[in-house]
Amino acid sequence: MSPQDQLNRLRREMDELNHEMLDLLSRRGALAVEIGKIKRLQGVERYDPVREREMLDFIAASNQGPFETSRLQHIFKEVFKASAELQGEDRDKTLLVSRKRQPEDTLVHVKGVTIGNGRPQLIAGPCAVESFEQVNAVAEKLALSGVKVMRGGAYKPRTSPYDFQGLGFEGLKMLKAAADRHDLRVITEIMTPGAVESALPYVDIIQVGARNMQNFDLLKEVGKTDKPVLLKRGLSATIEEFIYAAEYIMASGNSQVILCERGIRTYERATRNTLDITAVPILKQETHLPVMVDVTHSTGRRDLLLPAAKAALAIGADGVMVEVHPNPAIALSDAQQQLDFDQFDQFVEGLTVQFPQLDLVK
Ligand code: PEP
Ligand code: MN
Repeated sequence: MSPQDQLNRLRREMDELNHEMLDLLSRRGALAVEIGKIKRLQGVERYDPVREREMLDFIAASNQGPFETSRLQHIFKEVFKASAELQGEDRDKTLLVSRKRQPEDTLVHVKGVTIGNGRPQLIAGPCAVESFEQVNAVAEKLALSGVKVMRGGAYKPRTSPYDFQGLGFEGLKMLKAAADRHDLRVITEIMTPGAVESALPYVDIIQVGARNMQNFDLLKEVGKTDKPVLLKRGLSATIEEFIYAAEYIMASGNSQVILCERGIRTYERATRNTLDITAVPILKQETHLPVMVDVTHSTGRRDLLLPAAKAALAIGADGVMVEVHPNPAIALSDAQQQLDFDQFDQFVEGLTVQFPQLDLVK
């Protein structure tokens, strides 16, 4: 056989081996996907360093050359990495909150009100419940304006322990009494897993605040209830972390989840937080959940509430949250950015001029 013939024959053999290796790699990949599914069912981490070490040791023990063991192990590590990626990709596809899993929008229903149906909702109310008279005055105002869901914090997560901490359970009762009088639904923040059950009779939507976005025990607890949950984005949470936090609630059995962008911490000090407006379309692409924007806590500036709300609705948000107080100057929290009643009227008017589809029924 001429050297050229010999070369051609060896090359053909090499092609066959490549073919076999490709076939083996593909079969290995399919196996990895199957293993990933079982791990997910078991709730086990997909990356298993002990198992990887065992496989690398096996390669070292079985290697008969000509490749050096370290070189072979490097190649196999790449294969392991690619397999893990396959499992990861598959995992994203199967997240309960993912649009890949459920292409149609989730609608959240709260006593005859729907969030996520294309008619944006306005959620308004004071930062904190301060007295029955205060929440009742706000409730009366909101009902006149056509708002259907009232907010108000009874349990307040305050930066300083010396600041007003909220009226607690008594505040919940006041909020519910005022809302009932004016046919409004109640949304309020619950801060601990232990406070969830006792709050249920007083709450129509449970709010999980920014500081608690990764309080996984709380997420699991609210996930076990049959009340809708409004989950706020964490102070410095990435969109991916936000989505996984929502997944905790859904994985615990509650699919009535609303996501709320409320600004993130950046170097910018002109606003209290930086409103990440493109989070809205990203979250709506990645998940099937309704997305709202809290214009009060994101901007921290009264003069920016209306433009931020317009931006939110223009970019596709399912609603806006804003704080309203009978007399913001004496408010026990967030005095800087709550609207008084006249300012609220201007806010609603400014918004409805451009967005008449806002779901306000008078
Ligand atoms: C709130 O809405 O009352 C609140 C405290 O907001 P955040 O959790 O977004 O800071
Ligand atoms: Mn506030």
